[in-house]
Amino acid sequence: MVQVSRKSFRTRIFFYFFVIFVLFTVAILSFQYQREKKYRSSRLENTLDYTAQLTRRFIERNQLISSGNLSRIHEIREILPGESTRITVIGLDGVVLFDSSVEDVELMENHLDRPEVQKALLEETGSHIRKSETTNQEYYYYARRYPGHFVRIAVVYDMEIRNFLKAGQFFIVFIVGAFAIIGLILYLVTGQLSLAVTRLKDFSVRAAKDEVIESEVHFPDNELGIIGSQIVRIFHNLKNAKDKLALEQEKLLNHLNVLNEGIVFFNRNKQKTLVNRHFVQYLYFISKESALNPEDIFRMEEFNKLTEFLLANPAGSSTIKPDVLPWLEYVIPSGDRFFKVQCIIFQDFSFEVILTDITRLEKRRLMKQQLTSNIAHELKTPLASIKGYLETMINHWPVPPDKQRNFIEKAYLQSERLTSLINDVSLLNNIEDAGELFRFKTVMLKEIVDDVHGNFADRMNVHSINFRSYISDEIEVKGNESLLFSIFQNLVENSINYGGNGISIELRVYHSDELYYYISYADTGKGIPEEHLSRIFERFYRVDHGRTRESGGTGLGLAIVKNAVQLHKGEISVRNRPEGGVEFLFSLSKK
Ligand code: ADP
Repeated sequence: MVQVSRKSFRTRIFFYFFVIFVLFTVAILSFQYQREKKYRSSRLENTLDYTAQLTRRFIERNQLISSGNLSRIHEIREILPGESTRITVIGLDGVVLFDSSVEDVELMENHLDRPEVQKALLEETGSHIRKSETTNQEYYYYARRYPGHFVRIAVVYDMEIRNFLKAGQFFIVFIVGAFAIIGLILYLVTGQLSLAVTRLKDFSVRAAKDEVIESEVHFPDNELGIIGSQIVRIFHNLKNAKDKLALEQEKLLNHLNVLNEGIVFFNRNKQKTLVNRHFVQYLYFISKESALNPEDIFRMEEFNKLTEFLLANPAGSSTIKPDVLPWLEYVIPSGDRFFKVQCIIFQDFSFEVILTDITRLEKRRLMKQQLTSNIAHELKTPLASIKGYLETMINHWPVPPDKQRNFIEKAYLQSERLTSLINDVSLLNNIEDAGELFRFKTVMLKEIVDDVHGNFADRMNVHSINFRSYISDEIEVKGNESLLFSIFQNLVENSINYGGNGISIELRVYHSDELYYYISYADTGKGIPEEHLSRIFERFYRVDHGRTRESGGTGLGLAIVKNAVQLHKGEISVRNRPEGGVEFLFSLSKK
């Protein structure tokens, strides 16, 4: 296909040049023809003038006019070369006095109006070509004025192209030769020209179709070729720049997509230029009409403030300085979620809108607030007890030594409670806020469980609790020893505190997969009333406040367990066993 188009282009360009060349040749030929004609005419005129002079001299010498013997002029005709020469003698009044071709000159009309005679009358000599009415042949007439008469010489005029061509044979051969050489040169030149143009055309067609173009397109070594290679080079530079820009844009979009914020960029005409996934998701959530198009925000009630802000800073209104870009920020509550809206207008009046889901932060803030007041509340009770015992002793001093000891022991117990409360709160805070500070390593679960068992062995004996662990030596988890210890410690302590006497505790790995061990911790105690199960992991949530206080629990034990499990990439759930007692099911990460 490329070949065909090249040929047709070459044929066309060759054809154009050929036509121009033919026209040029025709022009040259006709010019040469005219020149030749002129040259022949002047040569002819010289001959005719010579004949006229000869005739005149002959007339004068022999005094033919005065003697009235003009017919002697035939004598000259006989010695002239060529038989066709016709001699006419005309009086200055136009009367024909002699004509070598006519017998009865008296019958001839007046010749004063003949163009050659008219010219000769004015300029001494005159010539004209026309058909003779007398002989019906084309003649070249030449007249010369002398004092007293005109002498007119006429020859049959046969200046035909055929003759000219015959005469200019060499010239024609030359023209044909030049034609052939120039044709060959044209053929080669058009070949070179068409090669560059065709390459350029192929290149432009492929570029328009966005096809892959090799960076080296070879052009012939001429001006057109240089232009062609420059165009291809510029094209490649532009394409590279465009590709780089596209890559940067893709990188930006990828970056925007991994952000937790929804971002959209608008141009100054409020048309979206770039948007990330989160923005679309958040918009869908906020909008009651399920809007998905970023441009919809300009008609959504929730974004009224944004629309007003944009109206207050219309495109082109004033110049924006790069260090003080107009900025808007406010919060949209939507259902149980909260979104922060931010808008920045850039120097070219394009702008970006950022949506941030601040629900978690907001909820965390509320939770922290609640936690602080809970902690304050929890601290009050033991502090009030300690204060109470001390006050009683101060007010009733001297207190008998046995009572003294009793009060001091009770105050000490409360201070212990305070310590464990503060320890639990700080442990929980650390897990939540600084989880990364806990160092993780491969831990043998059995060792942890054995430690916990050892710690509680005495208390278990007191309550006749039977502890059975089926955790084998090879069970290894990736975790933090002290947190893992806390998990089992809290579970065992709860069973002792709330399960009742004579119960059994059973611990086993009930399942494992590539990533996790699934562990069951169960006791055969009283269990937890169903209605409390869903809230049992909340901070300070207790089933029976009185009993818990008695047992010294802080209400934070299971919250610590849950957070610690989650920090180990696991999950925890609780259920009552049908045969009695409570069972905690949780997973711990292997890696
Ligand atoms: P505390 O630190 O006060 O023990 P937890 O968060 O550990 O608080 O436990 C919350 C509540 O769950 C306890 O008040 C208790 O009523 C109940 N509970 C926890 N473990 C058990 C269990 N093994 N058997 C019965 N009740 C339990």
